[in-house]
Amino acid sequence: MDQTPAPATSAMTKGQPLPLVAVLATGGTIAGVQASATSSSYVAGSITVEQLMASVPQLAGLARLRTEQIANVGSQNMTHAVWRALAARVSALEADPDVQGVVVTHGTDTLEETAFFLGLTVPASKPLVLVGAMRPATALSADGPANLYAAVALARHASAKARGPLVIMNGDIHTAREVQKIAASGLNAFGSPNGGRIGVMVGIEPLFHGQPPQTPSAFEHFDLAALGPAPQWPRVAIVYAHADLQADVIDALAALYDGLVLAGVGDGNATDAALHALKRASGQGVAVVRASRTGSGYVGRGAEIDDGAAGFIAAGELSAQKARVLLMLGLTRTRDPGRLQALFDNR
Ligand code: ASP
Repeated sequence: MDQTPAPATSAMTKGQPLPLVAVLATGGTIAGVQASATSSSYVAGSITVEQLMASVPQLAGLARLRTEQIANVGSQNMTHAVWRALAARVSALEADPDVQGVVVTHGTDTLEETAFFLGLTVPASKPLVLVGAMRPATALSADGPANLYAAVALARHASAKARGPLVIMNGDIHTAREVQKIAASGLNAFGSPNGGRIGVMVGIEPLFHGQPPQTPSAFEHFDLAALGPAPQWPRVAIVYAHADLQADVIDALAALYDGLVLAGVGDGNATDAALHALKRASGQGVAVVRASRTGSGYVGRGAEIDDGAAGFIAAGELSAQKARVLLMLGLTRTRDPGRLQALFDNR
């Protein structure tokens, strides 16, 4: 749906049409509805993208908007099939010369995974901005409208190009590679624990703390067409480490999955029993990546574990949930631990 443009703001050249920004909606709390404005329970993915846009009439002063409903789910139910459809639409919009930038509205729970997936599969030559909300659309002081306004302002801005997908929440701008949901509640729920946010919104202008990287994207690129339909993508599970972790859970998963990511204690570590089971799995051709459950820091090769001998891959700065995405895509190309490690080292 194209919405009627309002007069240009001072940021635009007088007489020029407003930039065209595409908004792809997938659901989430930003589209969530409560029984009453003060209730703490709600259903994510309840209102349509048209209703969402209509709740922020000020958007018409920023951009001409083209909206599409890709899905309407709580992002805890995000699927690979939706990712594939979303990536295909974003790619098509990237190729559309009329479109200046793209916004994806999304639930916050798996927003970082979708952003990372898009970074790996979409040629991001234009601003691509993901946004969500911590409070439902019907809440008192809902944060969705302001977040959406900031996302459209960012997506129409030339300085948001060449940085890969960006995430904007609560006025902070994050890269897809770094961003994490770091709190289960509260408005300030997103962070980039290792490198920090890369910018902030000042009114309708982004203020970036640094220049874009010299290479436009730090991501490896995976061709969507070569991936095939989502149900056939390699299967990767995450094993969460804890005190006294036993081998049986790993043995069971190794029989079912193509790859395992260890959300390890500390620097990607686990009990001897678990590490032996992972080594067994690796010997049977299951790809094994070591990440950390701590939420930040770096999991390097060989600090406490001989990754070379075990055939393990070290996740570096990637969280377990992002390591799962990269391993899944990497396994469409190779099962060789050395080549898979190279994908994780490509930063
Ligand atoms: N469960 C919701 C979702 O991810 C939470 C949110 O959007 O904040 O869709």
